[in-house]
Parts: sequence; C-alpha cells; structure tokens
Amino acid sequence: MEINLTTKIYVAGHRGLVGAALVRALQSQGYENLISRTRSELDLCRQGAVEDFFAKERPQVVLLAAAKVGGILANDSYPVDFLRDNLLIETNIIESAYRYGCQKLVFLGSSCIYPKLAPQPMQESHLLTGPLEPTNEWYAVAKIAGIKLCQAYRKQHGFDAISLMPTNLYGPGDNFDLQTSHVLPALIRKFHEAKVNQSPQVSVWGSGKPRREFLHVDDLADACLYLMQHYADQEIINIGWGEDVSIQQLAQLVADTVGYKGEVVFDTSKPDGTPRKLLDTSRLTQLGWQPKITLKKGLLDTYRWFTEHHG
Ligand code: GDP
Repeated sequence: MEINLTTKIYVAGHRGLVGAALVRALQSQGYENLISRTRSELDLCRQGAVEDFFAKERPQVVLLAAAKVGGILANDSYPVDFLRDNLLIETNIIESAYRYGCQKLVFLGSSCIYPKLAPQPMQESHLLTGPLEPTNEWYAVAKIAGIKLCQAYRKQHGFDAISLMPTNLYGPGDNFDLQTSHVLPALIRKFHEAKVNQSPQVSVWGSGKPRREFLHVDDLADACLYLMQHYADQEIINIGWGEDVSIQQLAQLVADTVGYKGEVVFDTSKPDGTPRKLLDTSRLTQLGWQPKITLKKGLLDTYRWFTEHHG
C-alpha cells in the first residue's frame, strides 16, 4: 500500500514519550490525517472498546506506541501491570487493526527482549536464545509476545505488521519521576535538584559499571516513519545509536550538561540490571537510515525541556 500525506494514521499512545515524538514527526513531514485517543477516551486494555473504535474509525496505518513502561524499579515492583496490560494492549490493537482493514501496523518493542547475557552488540537473531534479565522479564515477555503476534498475523493472514526494537530512549516529554523513570531522566532531575539545593553529593543507583545505549526519541520517530514507508517483512529491526556509555560516564555527561560540580556516589544497594545493552544496527543501516542527534546535544535538549516543564 502507498502511504501518503492523506493516509489515515492512528498513533496509539500519543501522550507518551514515543507517541508524542511520532506525532511531532508526522506533522512536521506533512501528514495531515492523524487520529489519537487519550486514555480516558479509550482504555486499550478493554477489547470491546478497542473494537468499537476501530470499527468506527478504520485507520489505514497504526503506529503502536502505547504501552505500560517504566524503569528498573517500576518493572520489578509491578509485574502484573507490565505483563498483563501490555499483552492486552497489543492483542486488542493488532487484532482490531487486522479485522477492520488496516494496511500497515508498526509495533514498537524494546531492546530488553534480548537475553540478559546476549553477545554484544545484540543482533536481531539473538531473540529467544537465552534467559531474560529478571528485573524486566515481565515487560520483555509481553513485548516478545507482541513480536510473535505480528509475525503470526503476517503468516496466517498476510497482514503487514512490522516490529521495531528501539534501544533506551530519552527526550522531551520523558517521565522524570524518580521512582518510576529510566536512568537518564532520573539523573537529569537528581543533578538539577542537587545544583539548585547546593547538595555536595548525588547518589546514582548501582555500581555505575553497566553500559547502556541511548537514542533521542526524535531520531527514533524519524526511523519509524522511514521504516513505515520502506520496510515490510517479518524480521524485527533494531533501532539504536550504535555506541554505548557506562552509567558512570552518563552521570558525568549529565553533571556537565546541568552544570553540577559536586561529587557522584554509587548506591550499590540498588540493582545494576543487565550488564550491557547495545544493539547491532547494521540491518537498519543497510535499509538506509542513520541517527543524527548526539548524546551531548540530546541531553541539552532534554534538560531544556525539563527546566521549562519541571524546573
Ligand atoms: P534498564 O536499562 O532496563 O536497566 O533501566 P534503567 O534505565 O532504569 O536503569 C539503567 C541503569 O541505570 C541500571 O543499572 C540502574 O541501576 C542505573 N541507575 C542509576 N541511577 C538510576 C536512577 O536514578 N534511576 C534509574 N531508573 N536507574 C538508575
């Protein structure tokens, strides 16, 4: 199917970090027939409500960015929410999209679907080759089920559903709540507050040794729209920056961005999670797409957003 600027596109999860970035990217590229629903308008965990919505609106393209998400502590504390809600959201949307004539569905997974000790950088073929990281296995199992659902609908019904696996994302609109956020927004908040309060120390969770790869969400949105137009196969595609940093290095970069001059201490009573998470993005590169926003620039951009909205 040709997707053009008047194609009716439903962005599920448009208020989240990824969904909001997708809407920004679609609008800036001139797509003019976008639909969305807030959580109070449409509860994606309820099958009947989702069916009614699709029967009425019949979107031609669905970008599935709705999910229950959170950092290492939230994942570990609310296993039912991370497993059940995500399974329901995926099943309801993918089934209704297929049933009501959608021509293309883009499903967003996560790099945590890969085994805890997968070889690095992680290739798409490493999926389901070993045990998962226990702190986020609930979310990972739900996302793996989503990938398999997309593959199953393609195999059984010829439905063009693709699955994209972003690395750790960050950017404007991120969750900065210290209990539930991911590391990058948490560190922005901690260093900012320490600067404002003139605290001598900032405490960073874990040993500082785990390595993570970070991609700005506007790069991710650009990649999603590119692949929406140019990719139609069952294999999952990694979307990453291509390089990682240690949490200690990240803490230093955030301190520099914020202008904090105090000491960084590591709280080893908190979990490290998986030791390293770096995606092999050679498939994506071969498909013709590359990221543009460096971590340094992206951190500045995200810090600016934080001070405007929470500062
Ligand atoms: P993960 O990539 O799924 O492990 O999720 P996170 O982004 O939550 O955590 C990444 C790493 O950053 C882990 O090793 C955390 O222990 C570490 N980290 C250090 N400080 C913080 C913090 O304040 N919040 C969070 N969420 N993680 C932190």
